[in-house]
Amino acid sequence: MSRKKEKACRECHSITTEDECQVCHSNDVSTDYLGYVIVMDPETSIIARKMQIDRAGKYALKVR
Ligand SMILES: [Zn+2]
Repeated sequence: MSRKKEKACRECHSITTEDECQVCHSNDVSTDYLGYVIVMDPETSIIARKMQIDRAGKYALKVR
């Protein structure tokens, strides 16, 4: 079973397995990222507010 490598968008930190970010459609994605958070409800999440995330999903904490 092959699993696609996850990448993080340098623009919005969203994590995707595609070559293009599914959130902001940037192709500036990197496999070199540190940690991630899963945002369920961006409206009540303090982390989401801090990271300026406005939709649910998986986000990298740090993208290199
Ligand atoms: Zn993005």
